[in-house]
Amino acid sequence: MYVEILVEIKSKHIDKTFTYHVNDELKSRAKVGCRALVPFGRQTLEGYITNIKKETNIETKDIISIIDDEPILNEEMLELGKYLKETTLCSLSSAYSSMLPKALKAKAKVNMKPKTITYLEYINPNHEKTTKTQNLILDLFKDNKKVLKSEALSISKSSTQTLIKNGILKEFQEEVYRYIPKDNNYAKEITLNTMQEYCVNEITKSLTNEVYLLHGVTGSGKTEVYIECIKKVIKNGKTAIVLVPEISLTPQLIERFYHAFKSDIAVLHSSLSDGERYDEYRRIMRGEARVVIGTRSAIFAPLKNIGIIIIDEEHSEAYKQENNPKYDAREVAKERAKYHNCPLVLASATPSITSLARSMKHVYHYLSMPKRANASLLPEVTVVDMAEENKTGHAILSRELEYRIIECLEHQEQVMILLNRRGHSTTITCSSCGYTYKCPYCDISLTYHKTSKNLRCHYCGYTKYVSDTCPNCHEKSLNYYGLGTEKLEDYLREVFPRARVIRMDRDSTTKKGSHEKITSAFESQEYDILVGTQMISKGLDFNNVTLVGILNADASLNIPDYRSSERTFSLLHQACGRAGRGLKKGSIILQTFYPDNYIIKCVSKNDYKSFVKYEMNVRRTLKYPPFYRMITIRIMSKDYSALKEESLKIKEFLKNHVNEETIILGPSTANMFLVSGVYHFEILTKYKFDDKIKPALEELDNLMNLNNKVWIDYEFDS
Ligand code: ADP
Ligand code: ZN
Repeated sequence: MYVEILVEIKSKHIDKTFTYHVNDELKSRAKVGCRALVPFGRQTLEGYITNIKKETNIETKDIISIIDDEPILNEEMLELGKYLKETTLCSLSSAYSSMLPKALKAKAKVNMKPKTITYLEYINPNHEKTTKTQNLILDLFKDNKKVLKSEALSISKSSTQTLIKNGILKEFQEEVYRYIPKDNNYAKEITLNTMQEYCVNEITKSLTNEVYLLHGVTGSGKTEVYIECIKKVIKNGKTAIVLVPEISLTPQLIERFYHAFKSDIAVLHSSLSDGERYDEYRRIMRGEARVVIGTRSAIFAPLKNIGIIIIDEEHSEAYKQENNPKYDAREVAKERAKYHNCPLVLASATPSITSLARSMKHVYHYLSMPKRANASLLPEVTVVDMAEENKTGHAILSRELEYRIIECLEHQEQVMILLNRRGHSTTITCSSCGYTYKCPYCDISLTYHKTSKNLRCHYCGYTKYVSDTCPNCHEKSLNYYGLGTEKLEDYLREVFPRARVIRMDRDSTTKKGSHEKITSAFESQEYDILVGTQMISKGLDFNNVTLVGILNADASLNIPDYRSSERTFSLLHQACGRAGRGLKKGSIILQTFYPDNYIIKCVSKNDYKSFVKYEMNVRRTLKYPPFYRMITIRIMSKDYSALKEESLKIKEFLKNHVNEETIILGPSTANMFLVSGVYHFEILTKYKFDDKIKPALEELDNLMNLNNKVWIDYEFDS
């Protein structure tokens, strides 16, 4: 018997299988999808068995051993890997690696073992007389068949050992899972309203492979729709995957799922330890968990018999993997839903323009929930012109917002303030010579963090201490400009000395569990004001919040990216959705320098339809997705002139290899031109249909593999 093995060789683009012989002893264990250890040149490598053959006409070596008892990649996963390779131009082995938890990847250096607990069993009750201490230990077995060994040891080490040695007690191991979900007392019983019921019925009508776009305003009760659909699917003996952008931002959703499905739930996300992840993964493989909730990579959960896949906040960019393989979990979900012939639900309060376009063409079924579930009204939005406020000296909080905060505090209602900028001051500049602290490796100014008293680069993490004199002219004339969440927190304490203020951003949530701590403290009203970055804009459901202030509403509008309007709308709309979720009416104060901007206007009128119409027009005119497909080719190097030269060559190559109608733009410098000492150029290609482009990029990839100064990377948009 022979097997083909896909070994992972360092060079990322080399994808080759090699044939090995399997000796008789290993024959029964060699299955497709298992990992095997093989000799490779002078090394020993791990690889995945991709095929089994009876014979071969080439000379082969023997495999050394089979690592897994059961395949870690089933037939579906093996196919899915090929799909990833085709669509993202990655190597097959990197595709498989990204699908598996660290402990199961080929070449993983972690030697992960199931965690076990040692118990004792009383196996020989007819033993000779025992000592007093020994009897104390044996007493533990009066009401229990098994007793924790640690419990016996705590009475007496030596007596326990003697009892085992004399064959009176016997040790045995039992596996325990490292991840134990918190029990919760979420006790709200909910009856679906007609809107929700309609959606559940539509989605579960046929339970075949259809895509549904569930467009439900914030607070419309989408979570209950998910839960009801999944209950039906489970009743049919099937399983479900739910994807969320970020677990820590959706503690309330997870709680509701635990309440509905208990131990049927497995959670997969990035803050699990390797061991926890390994255990959750095995629980899923063994069929012990039937509902998987997780972030992007949970789309690869090894569930069999999937009955539904649900993607919450489907517009979120968190579903796109930033490094190779650059898969889009939404596209992978479509592929898996096809394989299992099951429905896929894409849900959001602000669906992506692409998904909306597809539902307009009836590729997706459009379902809408336009009202909040508990009949609370969507909050009223007031737009404040900050140019006017600045003139009156109200640069941070407008008069209107300050007044409304005071009012809320008086009524014991809570306030959330969104400022999408972490740190204290965004620039430090010398007023005498004009010097500005900049990152030496990136093309941006450093942000001052007061708590840690240092300057930080938000691209590469470079840090530097601030002195009180200018490093250039040595004058004591450094000025702190710009507003970050840290400074805002201080400012609020100063203006409202009696208010209890808490902050949530990347810096205040570095410890595991800190999100939950902050959200639950705020929920139980230990604080009056929650300040935060976009982290606080999504998913949170606090009944007592009646006011949301948005400070730099327009900050993301001016980023030169075709998606910035869409991003801004969705961020602001989500943030607005945090207010007035309970019985009291909510209001939003939106501070901007562009009160007449069309997007700001649409947000303030809660008018997603007009925004979409406007944005679709812009995209059609400028030939952007969803009207055109787009591939961004990013070209990078530490050597600027080599980069420039190579970029021009790549453009020539593309011109000669792709369809004539395909638009090629660039090379130009990327938005993030210099990051960690690496220069970035971009070439854009836009096309409706081009069968030549993928083969061309593959060829380009092979060519670039030989270049050790310049490397490339792709981003796919459609
Ligand atoms: P979404 O995810 O659409 O923003 P949620 O699922 O978080 O909305 O629901 C918003 C709020 O409405 C929650 O507090 C939830 O408990 C409540 N809710 C959902 N469905 C119902 C219902 N049918 N009746 C009463 N309250 C409901
Ligand atoms: Zn930097």
